[in-house]
Amino acid sequence: MLDAAFFRRWMTGAAALISREADRLTSLDSPIGDADHGTNLHRGFSAVATALEQEETPTPSAVLTLCGRQLISTVGGASGPLYGTLLRRAGKALGEAPEVSREELAAALGAGVQAVAALGGAAPGDKTMIDALAPAAEALATSFEAAREAAEQGAVDTTPLQARKGRASYVGERSIGHQDPGATSSALLFAALAETAA
Ligand code: ADP
Ligand code: MG
Ligand code: MG
Repeated sequence: MLDAAFFRRWMTGAAALISREADRLTSLDSPIGDADHGTNLHRGFSAVATALEQEETPTPSAVLTLCGRQLISTVGGASGPLYGTLLRRAGKALGEAPEVSREELAAALGAGVQAVAALGGAAPGDKTMIDALAPAAEALATSFEAAREAAEQGAVDTTPLQARKGRASYVGERSIGHQDPGATSSALLFAALAETAA
């Protein structure tokens, strides 16, 4: 079972990974966006790490809700409200339980992905974070490692797609041949989750 401490380790691990990979995320956002995805997420996850040190988070839900709130208020770009919605909706789905199972987390993240899709209007194949998040949430019902691999594969598979949502859609066919930055950061979140569970 996964308790609040597990979720805090996941989110601080994600913050560390985002910090290490921030330059790569920003580089990916350069040809098809405005070259700020790594900077945006680094700012957001630094706020997440600080908030987790300062505030009480007695349940898994409290951890995800606090982190989601931080991302919405600090990130600025499109990815902030979208990731914030993912975590807040997943947190809400977990209720007040002090511990949850991996299967319950998978279902909660599935609800979070639905909320991201509703907010941003993206469907699978539109070359967004959805392309990594949706298969990863589904694979999490099998294992942490399956979710990590599904997210990574989903991110890699965005490369040949033409973007239909977000800034990358503005460059039209020129978005083809570049991996989506948001799908790449989503893969980092699931890599951090698998590391936490290992
Ligand atoms: P911005 O585009 O505002 O600069 P970021 O660079 O931080 O924001 O994030 C860009 C990422 O956000 C994209 O790579 C994509 O994965 C994701 N994204 C953008 N718009 C949407 C959307 N409508 N639905 C889902 N994901 C989106
Ligand atoms: Mg950007
Ligand atoms: Mg921007």
